[in-house]
Amino acid sequence: MRILLVEDEEKLANSIKKALEAESYAVDASFDGKEGYELAFGEEYDLIILDLGLPSMDGVEIAKALRAEKVKTPILMLTAKDAISNKVEGLDAGADDYLIKPFDFEELLARIRSLLRRKTSDKELVFTVDNLSLDPSSHIVKRAGKELALSAKEYALLEFLMRNKGQILSKQQIIDHVWDIDLDPFSNVIDVYIGYLRVKVDKAFPKDKPLIKTIKGLGYKIGV
Ligand code: CA
Repeated sequence: MRILLVEDEEKLANSIKKALEAESYAVDASFDGKEGYELAFGEEYDLIILDLGLPSMDGVEIAKALRAEKVKTPILMLTAKDAISNKVEGLDAGADDYLIKPFDFEELLARIRSLLRRKTSDKELVFTVDNLSLDPSSHIVKRAGKELALSAKEYALLEFLMRNKGQILSKQQIIDHVWDIDLDPFSNVIDVYIGYLRVKVDKAFPKDKPLIKTIKGLGYKIGV
């Protein structure tokens, strides 16, 4: 899942980005309101985290402008403790939830998971394909009852495939939801990571049927 973070306190923004990346999210961070708005409008994100007080365009203005442009990406607004009335304003502007600073990182993760669940309209708490299961809250992936050890990126790619099981996903769609904006569009990183996943998900279980499929010229899918 790919997240846009717009937060002008660079130290805080970088530490949130780092922590979210460790949780397997792809994160683009912007320290400026206007730039953040342009990214939110021009790129694909699964979630936007918006600080309320920002230079050049504040969080409320960004949320309003995005909703006016029919951008429906869930927005989590970050607001300072002394700005309680702004919080209400933020929600009216089109934010889906808010978090008061300073916040606990676990709380941020819980809010993110809940907004992403709402977005996919998929109320499944654990995704399954055949005898493979993935739990987005614990990041535990199991096949045939055996826990798989995946890197953060492998996990993110598998989660995206499983959230969209049975659907063919193009490389561009995978890039848009699993990698951040710094990825070289000509890199073969998707094929490389699909290869890593195949080894762990399919080749390690030779008695079970392979689940990750390549659809020539179109992309990849998992399941039927
Ligand atoms: Ca701020």
